[in-house]
Amino acid sequence: MLTVNLDKDLCLKCTTIDCLVRCRYLGLDLEQATQERDRLMAEENSQVLEDCVTCYACEEYCPYGNHPFYLIVELQERHGIHPVPKEIEEHQVASLAPKGKIQYREMHAPVIDLCTFPMLKDSITGPLFENASFFWGTDVFCNLMYLHFGKTSLINERLQKNIDNIWNFYLKPNNLDTLVCYHDECYATFTSYAQAYGIEVPFTPVHLFDFIIERLTELKDRIIPLNIRAAYHRNCSNRLIPETHDRVDEIFQMIGVERVERQYEDDNTLCCGLSFDAQQRKDLARDTQKKILDDIQTSGATYCVYNCPMCLFTLQDKVRSINVTPILMPDLCQKALGA
Ligand code: SF4
Ligand code: SF4
Repeated sequence: MLTVNLDKDLCLKCTTIDCLVRCRYLGLDLEQATQERDRLMAEENSQVLEDCVTCYACEEYCPYGNHPFYLIVELQERHGIHPVPKEIEEHQVASLAPKGKIQYREMHAPVIDLCTFPMLKDSITGPLFENASFFWGTDVFCNLMYLHFGKTSLINERLQKNIDNIWNFYLKPNNLDTLVCYHDECYATFTSYAQAYGIEVPFTPVHLFDFIIERLTELKDRIIPLNIRAAYHRNCSNRLIPETHDRVDEIFQMIGVERVERQYEDDNTLCCGLSFDAQQRKDLARDTQKKILDDIQTSGATYCVYNCPMCLFTLQDKVRSINVTPILMPDLCQKALGA
């Protein structure tokens, strides 16, 4: 069974316990966090395992990249804690199970991994994605969403097979070795998670933001600045790959978008509420979404830009109700390219 590569000595010598002290949901001071850290290191059950809302933020808060969140999820599973009720979990596990029906397809660069979002396939057109190939499906699904369900064993059971599927059926036979991840979560899987669990990734994953920057650079003569003020909603899986977050400002600058200042952004971002809902923390979901909407409204933004399709699907109607236009980052860039 795979276990997370976490340096326990580093944690035991750590004096700040940033991973737990900075958690906005547990409410621990340094002394309490130190006790909880010791329980986690002893792999005991603890308040952290019971109360964690799986926001992923502690992965970003640890200054040493020591993967505290992956350990928390692993221990939740070992102690029989189900953050999401079992019946919802079982339904999700079954509905996104690999079908074993993947076959060779001709592909050419750039290859876009749409994860399990076939509804976004019509977005892979226009100048940004000119001549792109794309794929999706449960046989290539990263499965990282099961971090919200306390199920690292399921991720580990499915992930290597699905990585091998991408490589053996889509990339290698077409002499390709890079893959653009439309969903942030896939990139986080192939980089952060795979590294933490020693899972081999035979191709080079490219973050969507890096792909967009490259394309906008190539197409710079076609960019018509949008001259809008926009809020940016950062998603949970970006906490696993914080090094990609500063690309937001770079892209906005390239297409003439002013990012408004907000309280809940960058490392103070809030979850869209979808996972809280699934965990039956309905009040927390509602209160969090209200904070997000109030924050956007106060900022004076006319657009709210998303990187994660699930955040968009969760919040788009609510955002429209305050007269703000919700949009995915690539769609916003297409607008700047006149598409
Ligand atoms: S995970 Fe990071 S922040 Fe948390 S105790 Fe360990 S070293 Fe410190
Ligand atoms: S995932 Fe979020 S809620 Fe859970 S311990 Fe980490 S910071 Fe706290």
